[in-house]
Amino acid sequence: MAYDPDNIFARILRGEIPNDTVAENEHALAFRDIRPQAPVHVLVIPRGAYVSYDDFAANASDAEIAGFHRLVAQVARSEGLMLAEGSAGFRAITNAGEHGVQEVPHFHLHLLGGRPLGRMLA
Ligand code: 5GP
Repeated sequence: MAYDPDNIFARILRGEIPNDTVAENEHALAFRDIRPQAPVHVLVIPRGAYVSYDDFAANASDAEIAGFHRLVAQVARSEGLMLAEGSAGFRAITNAGEHGVQEVPHFHLHLLGGRPLGRMLA
């Protein structure tokens, strides 16, 4: 699937649409989901133009992949989700494509926590 440069997260990255930023670095941006599903619901996105997780994992540079995941850890820490620091847990998920019910075609990771989340896979 070709990357659509006008998708909503690309527009957020360009500053065309406001967002509630939680943290950012050279390679990634973290902001609160507009329709939160849990007390903590943060989206982490790479600054690069990647449609989905598989696109990112296959094509991003090592620096982009490291920068992205370091930002996930930074947000987990600042939102009180780190297990090593007493958190009861969290969920990190990414939806991809039609079967994954991906709404926005710019790779993003959902970081959810702050309440028991229930079983996801039956
Ligand atoms: P997906 O289904 O693609 O994994 O999730 C897309 C997420 O983006 C949804 O949870 C949705 O609430 C969120 N979202 C969609 N549009 C916006 C927006 O303009 N701003 C923010 N902050 N989140 C959005």
